[in-house]
Amino acid sequence: MVKPKKHLGQHFLKDNDIARDIVKAVKQHKKGMKILEIGPGTGVLTQFLMEDYADDIILIDLDRESINYLEKHYSEIKENIIYGDFLKLDLRERLGEEYIVIGNFPYNISSQIFFKILDDKEKVVEVVGMLQKEVAERLASPPGNKNYGILSVLLQAYYDIEYLFTVGREVFDPPPKVQSGVIRLVRNDRQALDCDEDLFKRVVKQGFQNRRKTLRNALKPLNLTDEVKQLPVLNKRAEELSVKEFEELTNTVAIGRINEV
Ligand code: SAH
Repeated sequence: MVKPKKHLGQHFLKDNDIARDIVKAVKQHKKGMKILEIGPGTGVLTQFLMEDYADDIILIDLDRESINYLEKHYSEIKENIIYGDFLKLDLRERLGEEYIVIGNFPYNISSQIFFKILDDKEKVVEVVGMLQKEVAERLASPPGNKNYGILSVLLQAYYDIEYLFTVGREVFDPPPKVQSGVIRLVRNDRQALDCDEDLFKRVVKQGFQNRRKTLRNALKPLNLTDEVKQLPVLNKRAEELSVKEFEELTNTVAIGRINEV
């Protein structure tokens, strides 16, 4: 068997019922649509994906030993088993116009995984993922909650996010230090933001940089004009704003900044 390696964030799920539940959480698949599994390890999810989606699966893992194991066990899909780093490889050629992402993600890079998914949001129609419970809760959290953060806003702009269930430590080998949570993201029908996207990201990031401060203080580095600074929305804190309010704020900031491009 494959020996779990700490530096790759390997915690292998031992419970097949949970694995099946995770795979069953996929709802958006249509015939021919690819399903990319990130970090299959020894294939606990893959075995159930094979039952329903064998023709459409693509696996990527950074562990040579896991890849060897998978190639042996799933030789019929060998061409779709990729050895490499999800964060670095450009897989778009293989994934088609629309695809689904699934995985018990390596927790140490789960935020980076979601940033990369966002880069390809036009094509990623659904994500079912297990990650550290706190992070899963954070992504699914509505505004007004202390868990709500940068990735919550950026992802919720394009996805409806649902926290599905919690998974205890004891069902992994080796057990992680933290509990896990499974979430599902389904692409909403927003085609584009109602504001400049780069500035939106800047406003969101800057706003949460000092999440305890009012937006008036947190957004100081954006050089707002005195007029904009008077607006009541700036009395709020970033964690209180919905996606829509961030869009409106971004449009206000776009016109109300002092000479900065
Ligand atoms: N899905 C398996 C393994 C989860 S552990 C299970 O549930 O048992 C996380 C997996 O992600 C490991 O197999 C690890 O090798 C892989 N991994 C870690 N970093 C990765 C990266 N950058 N790209 C692709 N896979 C990665």
